[in-house]
Amino acid sequence: MQKSDRQLGMNRDITRRDFIHDLSLTSLGLTLPAGVLAEAFTGNPESAGTYYPPTRTGMRGSHPGAFEVAHALAREGKKFLDPADLDEEYDLVVVGGGISGLAVAYYYRKQFGADSRILILENHDDFGGHAKRNEFHQGGKMRLSWGGTMNLEYPLFSDTANALLGELGVDIDELLQGYDFEYGSGPKGSPSIFFDAETYGRDELIHGFSFRAGNSDNLEAIFDRFPISEESRESLKKFYARRENVFKGKSEAEVGKILSGISYTGFLKKYGGLSDEAANLFIKTTHGYWGVGADSLSAAECIGASLPIMHLLGHPELSGSGDDNAGGDVAMFPDGNASIARLLVHALIPAVAPGSDATNIAMARFDYSRLDEATSPVRLRLESTVVNVTNRSGGTSVSYVNRGRVLRVNSRHAVLACYHSIIPYLCPDMPQEQKEAQKYQVKRPLILTNVLLRDSTAFDKLDISGAYCPGRLHGAVWQVKGVNTAGYRHDWEDSGPVPIMFWGSVAPPDASVPVQEQHRASRALLLAMTFEHFEREVRTVLDGMLGSAGFDVQNDILAITVNRWPHGYSYSYLDLWDPEWPEGQAPHEVARRPFGNIAIANADAGASALTNVAIDEAWRAVRELNS
Ligand SMILES: Cc1cc2nc3c(=O)[nH]c(=O)nc-3n(C[C@H](O)[C@H](O)[C@H](O)COP(=O)(O)OP(=O)(O)OC[C@H]3O[C@@H](n4cnc5c(N)ncnc54)[C@H](O)[C@@H]3O)c2cc1C
Repeated sequence: MQKSDRQLGMNRDITRRDFIHDLSLTSLGLTLPAGVLAEAFTGNPESAGTYYPPTRTGMRGSHPGAFEVAHALAREGKKFLDPADLDEEYDLVVVGGGISGLAVAYYYRKQFGADSRILILENHDDFGGHAKRNEFHQGGKMRLSWGGTMNLEYPLFSDTANALLGELGVDIDELLQGYDFEYGSGPKGSPSIFFDAETYGRDELIHGFSFRAGNSDNLEAIFDRFPISEESRESLKKFYARRENVFKGKSEAEVGKILSGISYTGFLKKYGGLSDEAANLFIKTTHGYWGVGADSLSAAECIGASLPIMHLLGHPELSGSGDDNAGGDVAMFPDGNASIARLLVHALIPAVAPGSDATNIAMARFDYSRLDEATSPVRLRLESTVVNVTNRSGGTSVSYVNRGRVLRVNSRHAVLACYHSIIPYLCPDMPQEQKEAQKYQVKRPLILTNVLLRDSTAFDKLDISGAYCPGRLHGAVWQVKGVNTAGYRHDWEDSGPVPIMFWGSVAPPDASVPVQEQHRASRALLLAMTFEHFEREVRTVLDGMLGSAGFDVQNDILAITVNRWPHGYSYSYLDLWDPEWPEGQAPHEVARRPFGNIAIANADAGASALTNVAIDEAWRAVRELNS
């Protein structure tokens, strides 16, 4: 029977509340979503004068107060007229303080001189964009986790990205030495699948199995425990046992065409013999990595995602990599690529963290009061949503909203390192073709919810490091331990508080409509979800998954941080949804064209949701600026 909110501990006082800056919005005639005001701050260790957003909990990512101005501009056509001119003159204004925007500022100083005056405007209450640090303090211990961008996918790095990381002192080999983590499949505890009672009729934790690796000597017994129909169980048994080439006699080109023209779940049904129910179990396996389900990806793309397919193409292994690691080779900081953002900010404004470098950056407590000082050549202004960027003779004018005031600064250059889909509203005079291309780039919604548990005893008893949850909002859950880099240590053997990461995306209401419409519909769903919705969700999953091992859902949850990213991964082109464009005509290539004194960066400009791409595009944008 479903537990009541009280039984789940929803009434318990946990560290989950957040500061909000509602005055700025109400003075503009904008309102916060219902319920937000009731979530006034109660238990955050932060106090006035010690502004330190990484420790904020509750609704983070796209947090209340960050997006209302942009939505009023883009959705409601609100005009932000009569800006007050500030007595500030810059060489460069950067829109967006994510990794791309910060890299733009870094490169600009190289290209145009270290004394260049630069203003970075960012709408959130923290810098880093998706590269968000979640920092918990409990019982004298600091625990770090990723609020967004986590992996450094170093094998994909360009010379440009490698050079920048080198200049920041990042040593990939050193990071790899401290890296002892594998997304829910080790190194301590087996991979597992959690079937929940609400979806499947009973809670069932299948220990020692993952769909990707198919890693068990006793698959029949494993599948017999799946709470699904017998027909579906039998179809899974046959699928995993088969070794054949279902395309025997066809040319490589013919096979490639078939695989890129059919969805992965379609392939599982048509060529793998799975029932609908069995095939649907795989849908969320790709949510975290692609931002869409395996029903929206082609079978060819899912080879790259290490899902089982190769054993039906004449190979002995199930998947290309033959293991459970869909993420590929990665290096990591304990707060993910927030450390890269912090290193960039430190390089631009050293006073924020004197003495910091890549070997200790994870431990630095940044002094946010130094980010925006008149005496510093580089200034980073938070809670500032840009609403207009215009070319003028010899430069640009940039208007933004900060705490209810509409302000304007002038600069020689501007670089838009924000989401491309907002650019048509910031620069309405851009060519129509370019604005259409920017609107095409609908980012993929994602969720990354961190839950601080009292300890990992229940996980240890069950011998799991995480689980795949096919029936839940977050498709995957795992312990965050074993990233011992940049001065931080949290070993698998350590006792005490542990962050548990819930990772996923919102299933679109209708997976058959064009993928951009799917993303927009998922985004609307995500924005409508309250903190309580997420809290109930993580409590239900933890209780069902760990309850048998003594987990006390009412008392063992210490804090919850929901990193909600309605504008998540950059739009990348998918086999099933996007045509082939002639060279130079793909939407991202049209969208990023320079416009007078304005250049365009962000990972969107490379149509790829990767940190290295955000850096590459920053470098390109700076080189496009006229001297
Ligand atoms: C949950 C999640 C996990 C990810 N994991 C990885 C990973 O493991 N590895 C990886 O390589 N990549 C990952 N990514 C992709 C990530 O997008 C890139 O790596 C990179 O961080 C993008 O940087 P960016 O600066 O291009 O964009 P963003 O980080 O989106 O920064 C753009 C900034 O501009 C701001 N902005 C937008 N409009 C305005 C405005 N009008 N005024 C002022 N500011 C504005 C935004 O709020 C944002 O802060 C992940 C993304 C998400 C969402």
